[in-house]
Amino acid sequence: MTVFNGSGAIEPPAVSIDLGFDHDHIWHPYSSMNAPGPLFPVASAEGALLTLEDGRQLVDGMASWWAAIHGYNVPELNQALQHQLPQMAHVMFGGLTHQPAVTLAKKLVELTVPSLEKVFFTDSGSVAVEVALKMALQYWQGQGEPGRQKFLTVKSGYHGDTFATMAFADPATGMHGRFGGLLADHLFAPMPPLQDSPWEPAAMEPIAQLLADNHQQLAGIILEPLVQGAGGMRMYRAEYLDGIRQLCDRYGLLLILDEIATGFGRTGSLFAYEQAGIEPDILCLGKALTGGYLTLAATLTTQRVADGIAGDGDGTLMHGPTFMANPLACAVANASIDLLLASPWQSRVQAIENQLHQQLEACRSLPLVADVRVKGAIGVVELTEAVEMNWIQPRLVDLGVWIRPFGKLLYVMPPYIISAEQLTLLTAAMYQVVDEMAQRSRGE
Ligand code: PMP
Repeated sequence: MTVFNGSGAIEPPAVSIDLGFDHDHIWHPYSSMNAPGPLFPVASAEGALLTLEDGRQLVDGMASWWAAIHGYNVPELNQALQHQLPQMAHVMFGGLTHQPAVTLAKKLVELTVPSLEKVFFTDSGSVAVEVALKMALQYWQGQGEPGRQKFLTVKSGYHGDTFATMAFADPATGMHGRFGGLLADHLFAPMPPLQDSPWEPAAMEPIAQLLADNHQQLAGIILEPLVQGAGGMRMYRAEYLDGIRQLCDRYGLLLILDEIATGFGRTGSLFAYEQAGIEPDILCLGKALTGGYLTLAATLTTQRVADGIAGDGDGTLMHGPTFMANPLACAVANASIDLLLASPWQSRVQAIENQLHQQLEACRSLPLVADVRVKGAIGVVELTEAVEMNWIQPRLVDLGVWIRPFGKLLYVMPPYIISAEQLTLLTAAMYQVVDEMAQRSRGE
């Protein structure tokens, strides 16, 4: 097998991936050592295609979990890394600084609302959320109200896998069952109503009541704007987000928006909060920040919050990871942002949205389909029963697509550069596997 990268052929790997060793020794995300499930060795990736070691090519519907917005093997991003590498791969950020970090912080401050002007770099989305929580807690310590240690969130949310962030997973379906006693006890409002139902201001009443009863013990509200991702792939209306901002203002609470999944164009605007015309007090970014090349995240906040934190003793924000502001990651993030802004990303996301609407609608009439939802470059088919991963994953690969369902959800969020033909392959495969699932459950 020979792989082409546009600038010439790359030799295939001399030794094939040792799947037996992988099976026996390596955990994959949410997997069991005893029954790890099907695994597909990838040799390379290019554009919107993943090439498996056996030469099969799969159209990528996942953008590597929301991150690879430009696709793979992107010349501009490769070049940014090649340029940065000989200068320095990494230096500690304590007491030192460097151009890639300063350039990136400037870009993030410029791209987001004017009130967000302070930047903290971390190495993953979960940690960016941890830092956001710390900022909020230290803000209240600085205000002489250290008792404000709880947050309010909505059910069906997801903010990460570390202990502080797991506490915001849905209390019924999330991590509480397993780690209950170790997770902080926050407040949960009902899920926001789905975007397709007509807007009823009464939707704000349950959360308004929770706040009226509990605001004195709260530091802030945290949620994913407009799209709840890993907690259920649920899209909700901008009016709800606007209502949350108003409630935060009424009680002087901080609003933390987790745009780790939605940031950088995925919902049709550069950041989802723009569609509600609101400004968060703290914003978390990650995933697509580096175009899916390296692990980097950022937490942005306002002068008010930074001043509040500084009001606490010597004002030190108590966080400082080893790989903070890694220069390679910052350099590729800078190139990814430049590439995004120079591209017709809005029309690309709009075209993906239109096509997903048109092509996924057909799934609605299939047995086993509970709902079809589309927002920006995100298409979801919710089923009435959980998928059987050992059957559906190889079947999707047979159909030439890389789609990774979970629970009752079959969904895609492809790279923005996907072609209309490639996207059709994704939606056709979704239709086909759901149809086959129904046949299987009828015993055909
Ligand atoms: N917040 C949201 C909204 C996410 O979707 C994710 C990742 N799925 C995270 C936080 C955690 O990010 P990471 O996996 O980089 O820790």
